[in-house]
Amino acid sequence: MSTDHTNGHTPPAPASSNFLRGIIETDLTAGAYAGRQDSQGQPLPQVVTRFPPEPNGYLHIGHAKSICVNFGLARDYAGRCHLRFDDTNPEKEEQEYVDTIIDSVRWLGFDWKDSTGEHLYFASNYFDKLYEMAEYLITADFAYVDSQSAEEMAANRGNFGEVGKDSPFRNRSAAESLDLFRRMKAGEFKDGEHIVRAKIDMASPNMNLRDPAIYRIRHAHHHRTGDKWCIYPMYDYTHPISDALENISHSVCTLEFQDHRPFYDWILEHLGNAGFLQKPVPHQYEFSRLNVTYVITSKRKLRQLVDEGIVDGWDDPRMPTLVGIRRRGFTPDSIQLFCDRTGVTKSDGWIDMSSLEGALREDLDPKAPRASAVLRPLKLIIDNFPAGETVACHAPVYPPAHPEHATALRHFPISNTLWIEQEDFMETPVKGYFRLFPPTADKPGSRVRLRHGFVVECTGFDKDADGKVTAVHCTYFPDSKSGTEGSANYKVKGNIHWISVAHALEAEVRLYDRLFTDPHPDAGGKDFKAALNPDAKEVITAYLEPGLKDAKPEDRYQFERHGYFIADRIDSQPGKPVFNRTVTLKDGWSK
Ligand code: ATP
Ligand code: MG
Repeated sequence: MSTDHTNGHTPPAPASSNFLRGIIETDLTAGAYAGRQDSQGQPLPQVVTRFPPEPNGYLHIGHAKSICVNFGLARDYAGRCHLRFDDTNPEKEEQEYVDTIIDSVRWLGFDWKDSTGEHLYFASNYFDKLYEMAEYLITADFAYVDSQSAEEMAANRGNFGEVGKDSPFRNRSAAESLDLFRRMKAGEFKDGEHIVRAKIDMASPNMNLRDPAIYRIRHAHHHRTGDKWCIYPMYDYTHPISDALENISHSVCTLEFQDHRPFYDWILEHLGNAGFLQKPVPHQYEFSRLNVTYVITSKRKLRQLVDEGIVDGWDDPRMPTLVGIRRRGFTPDSIQLFCDRTGVTKSDGWIDMSSLEGALREDLDPKAPRASAVLRPLKLIIDNFPAGETVACHAPVYPPAHPEHATALRHFPISNTLWIEQEDFMETPVKGYFRLFPPTADKPGSRVRLRHGFVVECTGFDKDADGKVTAVHCTYFPDSKSGTEGSANYKVKGNIHWISVAHALEAEVRLYDRLFTDPHPDAGGKDFKAALNPDAKEVITAYLEPGLKDAKPEDRYQFERHGYFIADRIDSQPGKPVFNRTVTLKDGWSK
């Protein structure tokens, strides 16, 4: 993002301005990936990207960024984006994670199907080829079997300022290495007894080039290949080959892989020259991770929150996981908007949580149906309203900008006893308070409009023995109804919402807020649990407009004056909705 120094204002970066788009546009102009064909002889798009999650956990808001970048580039440059599971680590991976990742990417609004088919892949589908290529690398003396112990290998690897030492096995013959590799595959050895390493340079200043491991022994069951293999390829070996086999053109990842790029290129060069891979081979480009204030994205720490019961599971609406954010009520469009706006750069930085919440408000404001809800109820008794009678009231379902604003109406009756918000009454009003307050010796009580209903004047209130206000009394003006001619005669400064007690829908509402009170809860090794926000979840019984009984799971509303709410996708039932507060109408965090 560039800063305009003339007025100190930072304009949002246009979608076309990031460096990845620049690279792609240059490649398109040069035809760098033009004229390629897939294995069936079908022409390949010039831009093929991929999102490569490891199925070892739930996706979070940071992954959403990567999804939006990769699928977004494919969409904008007539390309395609693959969803590929990088499943080379049998111990940590599970089908459950595969399923939820697929669900989350779909929910975000992306698809890996195009006219040529489904582009959903698994690195484990390439295990045979990966094995064959490793045999080639050994035969060609580009790789060898090392039989040092893990400790010896670590000690000989050297350090940043210190070159590594060649393994005593580095110069064993290709035939001997190949024989050992085949026996590794056949299950003759225990975990860690041997390992296959690329033969590059133990003195390289880049640690990733000091003979990186490419295959290791793991007697472990794999969620897709079962017990077929007891050796597994390393991620850094698998990743470039998977990219190349899928004809990826631009392999986009986060900055921590920058130092791995020379090995990525080494692998593709050696295997490309041997004819295993189509040329031109893919190139890797890195951008900075998305960090959002008040959010932690470490899988380990998120797991801790779940395991220790600090949150109610991976899909707890306070979690930054995509399943959690979804349950909280964020829209896929708002997440895409947020990811687009935060841009793609190479510099690390923090994005404020309020910009994610702002994108959500912006997305929902013009489209969310409106409804009334009383969250902290107090009774308002209209003493001159005939008991047992009702008057029909109505209000637009949609906000003014919506095309159905004038036509779609919601209906609710008014009666002599209403629920109002506790904060809409003050026994002794502070300066500038325009809602309900009682008469004093020298002043009448305040007048307010009951939104979409009548104007009332406060006449008094009841208190219990503890001094708590239990009810407010008022009288109404029958000729003041909203939408009638008489209403114009009443000028009031206060405007409050209400629900008729006899008609209200009682419902569980969960008021969610940020999970942490510290914008950087785990920075510098801090104990993130010390920064937990004790008010991040409050469960209340609220009174809702009667029509809300028909809310279906995942229906979203703006509860007027309160915020955006969603009917919980798990706990909400027909006739008995449960609502989650997604976000308040105004940002109460930025000062
Ligand atoms: P792990 O430590 O288990 O590797 P990970 O968060 O990197 O965790 P992956 O499943 O490997 O998880 O990530 C898939 C992709 O998402 C990678 O390309 C990674 O770069 C990207 N990604 C992960 N976190 C972020 C983030 N905060 N911002 C942008 N991209 C991210
Ligand atoms: Mg990773």
